Amino acid sequence: MEVTTRPTVQLLPAAQATLRAALDDGIRDGVEPCGYLLGQHEAASIQVTAVRAGRNRHAQPHSAFHLTADEHLAARRDAAARGLGVVGIWHGHRRGAAEPSQADRDGMLSEHPVLARRMPALMLIAAAPDAPGPWLQAYVRDGVGSRGRSPSWVAWDLEA
Ligand SMILES: [Zn+2]
Repeated sequence: MEVTTRPTVQLLPAAQATLRAALDDGIRDGVEPCGYLLGQHEAASIQVTAVRAGRNRHAQPHSAFHLTADEHLAARRDAAARGLGVVGIWHGHRRGAAEPSQADRDGMLSEHPVLARRMPALMLIAAAPDAPGPWLQAYVRDGVGSRGRSPSWVAWDLEA
């Protein structure tokens, strides 16, 4: 999906409640919480109707996150069973604002370019509980990346 399509991004209340609970769990456990966003992705809109928590498999899970291919597959099955699709990923920071950290840029966004190209189009990042600024920020993938280059992410309006 190209950014030029300018989809609206909506997070439904039930999904938001699940997300907040999953964020609290992760913060309490001392790891970055992360997982998948389930919903419907159409040309002009992305609607997140459910949130699924995944296991953070990063080697330093307190400051970065990694979702495995197995997690992705499980999320796709879960979505299909609900008549939905995987429309994005989410994760929460234990320190700092709701914007891609250096670990995000170095790791998730560039270390695995193949995965990055295949990742869903939407990413939600939650800020640390004590961080200034919005508690949650949406990012939409700009292009699909190309050989040796990861896609970039553009901050996006999020509708409740
Ligand atoms: Zn991050």
